Amino acid sequence: MIILESVEQMQSLSRSWNQDRKIGFVPTMGYLHEGHLSLVKAAKAECDIVVVSIFVNPAQFGANEDLSTYPRDLNRDYELLAPLEVDYVFLPTGAMMYPEGYKTWVEVKDISNVLCGASRPGHFIGVATVVLKLVNLVKPDLMYMGEKDFQQIAVLRKMLDDLNLGTQIVPCPIVREPDGLALSSRNVYLSSSERINALCLSQAIKQGREMYAAGIREAATLKTAMAEGINKAGGRIDYISIVNQFTLLDCEELDPESRIILAVYLGKTRLIDNSSVLA
Ligand code: AMP
Repeated sequence: MIILESVEQMQSLSRSWNQDRKIGFVPTMGYLHEGHLSLVKAAKAECDIVVVSIFVNPAQFGANEDLSTYPRDLNRDYELLAPLEVDYVFLPTGAMMYPEGYKTWVEVKDISNVLCGASRPGHFIGVATVVLKLVNLVKPDLMYMGEKDFQQIAVLRKMLDDLNLGTQIVPCPIVREPDGLALSSRNVYLSSSERINALCLSQAIKQGREMYAAGIREAATLKTAMAEGINKAGGRIDYISIVNQFTLLDCEELDPESRIILAVYLGKTRLIDNSSVLA
C-alpha cells in the first residue's frame, strides 16, 4: 500500500496507467468502518488498481457543522486498509485542494437543493467540487459509493454524466450494526442513551416498509407513523421524505420506485438513513 501525499504524485501516477487497466476509486473522509471497507472490497473484486482517498473536505461542511470535531485517525485507517491490499491511499490536504485564491465551484442544480441539500445549503457544491477534483486526479473507471448517502450518488452521477467524465458510480448497499443502525463515522459522537435512541431511524424505515407491504400507498400516512416513532424515541426530525429513487422528487402515492429518506438529530448528532420501500 503506497501513500500518496501530493496532488502531483497522484496526477503523474494516474497519467502513467495504461488504458487497459481498470481503476477503482473509493473517496472517503477517513475514520473508516465496515461500510467504507465494503466499498474497498467491492473495488478490489472488480478492478486492477484500487485508490482510496482520505480527505475531510472543508468545503462540504456548513459554518456551524462539525468540521473541527470530525473524527480522524489515520494510523487506524491504514491498519484497516492494508490487509485489503489497497494499492494507493491518496491523502491530499486542504491547502493542496483549495490553495489561496481558489475560485472554482461546481453546482448540480435542482437535485442538490432538496432533502439534505435543503437542510445543508452549499453542502453538495462542496461535495461535487471535491469529487470532480478527485476524479480528475485519479481518473477512475469506477467509483464506489455507499447508498447510505443516497442523494450524494444521485448528485454525483448527474455531474459525471453532464460533464462527460467517463467515470461510472458503483452504488453499494448500506452496512449496518447488528441492531440496524447504519454505520457512520459520526456514530462515535453518540452518548450511550443516544446510541439506543438512534435505532429510531432504521426502525422508522422498517415500519414504513411494513406499511407499504400491507398495501398502504399514501406517503403522508407512512410519514406520520414514522414521525411518531422517532419523536417517541427523542429524535429531532430534520426531514422525513418519500421520493422517487431516480428523480428524488416527492411522491404522494407510493410505488415500487419509492424511497424513504430521513435525517434525524440525536442530541447534536445528525444521522441519515434510507431504504427502498421494497427492501
Ligand atoms: P464518508 O467517509 O462518510 O464521506 O463516506 C465515504 C463513502 O463511504 C461514501 O460513499 C459513503 O456513502 C460510504 N459509506 C459511509 N457509511 C456507509 C455504510 N454504513 N454503508 C455503506 N457505505 C457507507
